[in-house]
Amino acid sequence: MTDSTFYRAVGVFDAVRPGMRAGAGILVRDGRVVAVGPPEEACPPGATRVDLGEVYLVPGFVDAHTHVTIRPGDGDQHGQLQQPAAWQTVRGVDNLRRMLLSGVTTARIMTEEHDIDVHFKAAVRAGEVAGPALRVAGRGLSPTGKHGSAAGGVDGPDAAREAVRTNAAKGADHIKIFTTGGVSSTDTSLAESNYSAEDIAAIVFAAAELGLMVSAHAHGGAGVDLAAAGGVRSIEHGALLTEQNLDTMTRHGTWLVLTNTILFHPTGIEQGDASEPAILAKVRQARAAMEASADRVRAAGVPIALGTDSMHGLFGYEMQWLVEHGWSPEEALLAGTVRGADLMDVQDIGALAPGRRADFVALLRNPLTDIGAVREVAGVFRSGNQVVDANGYTRPAPPAPTHREEHP
Ligand SMILES: [Zn+2]
Repeated sequence: MTDSTFYRAVGVFDAVRPGMRAGAGILVRDGRVVAVGPPEEACPPGATRVDLGEVYLVPGFVDAHTHVTIRPGDGDQHGQLQQPAAWQTVRGVDNLRRMLLSGVTTARIMTEEHDIDVHFKAAVRAGEVAGPALRVAGRGLSPTGKHGSAAGGVDGPDAAREAVRTNAAKGADHIKIFTTGGVSSTDTSLAESNYSAEDIAAIVFAAAELGLMVSAHAHGGAGVDLAAAGGVRSIEHGALLTEQNLDTMTRHGTWLVLTNTILFHPTGIEQGDASEPAILAKVRQARAAMEASADRVRAAGVPIALGTDSMHGLFGYEMQWLVEHGWSPEEALLAGTVRGADLMDVQDIGALAPGRRADFVALLRNPLTDIGAVREVAGVFRSGNQVVDANGYTRPAPPAPTHREEHP
């Protein structure tokens, strides 16, 4: 029998039961959670005991929308994606490290060039580089000249099916499409649909044949309605959602992945593209619309996950934003953990329940009392291995066993 370790803390929020379990800890064996509870219940004789001190344990955060190589504060994100592969890779290493430092143990990557995401996924798994486990999309699909078509457009159903198959063959875990323009580009509409219902149907069908979900970058209008009605799993961003958009999403069970750090944080698009008045005008419009629709989004009850959209290291801000706009700290923590797992349909992460991966974050204060605590990370564990220590040193997790898929 392999050894088990009991990590003792002052409390555990497991994302299964409501509230913080005072005096609890986590029993881990073979990288997975065996039990959560007070030592007298959950720590068998013979288990190694590790006292983590005055910390609260929460599941590892799931950044449901980000990129490996981009830094929004540097501006011109599409230009960044056109840089040489080696340059992007070097920057990716530090971006992944910052994600891990902020408690992100799994990240869903939403477009890269040069297959960089596929290679980083393998490098993290092999223990070559410190970072969260990655779920990757490869190259996003967008028509020629539209937002997201940095390295060439994909036009019409035939080309779209081909692009889906190419991504899948390279190892994509999901497919990303762009159905509206974006805030960080000029001359793109945030509401008109880039793709027709026929295009979207072709993409969703081709992906489904390969067992893959499709997510759509979309802010509002027809771009959201056609995507939701066409069977995409999630709308990404959604800054300009109308009543009708929320209605369509509710009817089709569509997820919403909010990415408000890049929109609201002063080091996001605002810093990166300050010299472009057209972009700053879009930022202001999107912020006002997002703030105005927050209550409607919550009332509609669409399932929500969270993404930093390349604001590496600021995942906590994403959860704080929710609380500042009417959600409870517990709802924000669920959105930042188990909901991200549900969105991806990866059932062995996101919560500290028996059988799931022992991915967890040690926080210096109770985040249910003050959500700001999610930004004070004292340690990060991946599969029971400490990958960030209290001094902020990061290390790769040991190589994942090759006989078992990281995310079956
Ligand atoms: Zn993005």
